[in-house]
Amino acid sequence: MKTKPHTPQKSDEKGVIRLRPGKEESLLRHHPWVFSGAIATLPADIEEGDTVTVTDSQGNVLGTGHFQIGSISVRILEFGTDTLPEDFYFKRLLSAYTLRRSLGLIRSDNDCFRLVHGEGDFLPGLIVDIYGDTAVMQAHSPGMHFARRVIAEALTRLPEARIRNVYYKSETTLPYKAGLDPENEYLVGSYDGNIATENGLQFNIDWLKGQKTGFFVDQRENRSLLEKFAEGRTVLNMFCYTGGFSVYAMRGGAVSVDSVDSSTKAAALTDANIALNFPGDPRHRTYAEDAFKFLADMPGDKYDLIVLDPPAFAKHRGAIKNGLIGYRKLNAKAFEKIKSGGILFTFSCSQAISRDMFRMAVFTAAARSGRKVRILHQLSQPADHPIDISHPEGEYLKGLVLYVE
Ligand code: SAH
Repeated sequence: MKTKPHTPQKSDEKGVIRLRPGKEESLLRHHPWVFSGAIATLPADIEEGDTVTVTDSQGNVLGTGHFQIGSISVRILEFGTDTLPEDFYFKRLLSAYTLRRSLGLIRSDNDCFRLVHGEGDFLPGLIVDIYGDTAVMQAHSPGMHFARRVIAEALTRLPEARIRNVYYKSETTLPYKAGLDPENEYLVGSYDGNIATENGLQFNIDWLKGQKTGFFVDQRENRSLLEKFAEGRTVLNMFCYTGGFSVYAMRGGAVSVDSVDSSTKAAALTDANIALNFPGDPRHRTYAEDAFKFLADMPGDKYDLIVLDPPAFAKHRGAIKNGLIGYRKLNAKAFEKIKSGGILFTFSCSQAISRDMFRMAVFTAAARSGRKVRILHQLSQPADHPIDISHPEGEYLKGLVLYVE
């Protein structure tokens, strides 16, 4: 039997959202999301992006956060208080920066890292990636959109970070229905070069036109691991985007590296990054082609190190089944074609697909191929993409390094 969806009532309690009885449990465990079904009353004059206080049904304060229309109605910024501390954003950013420094990510040969990973840095709805002296900022909630100038200014005050430019890039990340029409723009400074250094390798980062904030910082450690496997191998980097894995494979001593991406812009970025680090090196070739077609057409027995890092095949829970079929088919092709003694780096960045589901999809592909496959490493997102232990939804990247006989 279907139950009628619950509709919150309007109240005259200014700036206060009151929950229904018993709906405070997850907040008491510091899960930062309030779902619309948990709400008893909303202030009559509430607007999207407002900072609100959430209370239990008795009026006890649970926390303060940003309101938005949708299934996730409030993202809590601070628990147990009805006011955000003074200079709230600066303090959170400083704590995020201190963590990155303690992780050893800020060095003369590494100026590229994620400074703010949403809930994982207790700033739900906000992403900030650092490329040299430029911060690229994305708001995923109206509340963060309204706070963007305060956040940009706070970024420039981080003592050691020396951030001179802040680029705001939220045209595609904010809820369309909110009608905020955000413009991608510099909130501080302007364009003054775009080369960042990751583990001593240089990358052109295209935050103006590239995907996400311009670079997939989250694969840094997995790229480093690949470098260690590359010596003497023939490498195929599928879904290469900026060619990150390819550049590391080149430094690792690969015999040859082929990079494939269906986007011609991505292929051009890969070429530019290879030229930046290994000018004129004949070991590398780029193909602007569909990955599935490339895998189907390529000769067997050519590659003995293959990277599969596709875009998220399941962007929400409803897409899990088809997503898993996609991962199974993709990996099946790689198992069919990889050389004996080959290494496969295979990833999923679909948040909706769990580690176990992904492993099962890859296992099914391996079993059907009849190849003998062993897991050498189980990979995840790096420490500058932390997961708040109360918010398991923050885990998204998973990967396997496999030895295929
Ligand atoms: N491995 C990259 C990130 C990959 S992002 C890194 O380390 O930075 C996913 C990439 O897959 C995008 O660049 C996108 O253009 C590409 N892509 C999407 N569908 C594709 C397809 N069918 N064939 C080939 N590339 C595809």
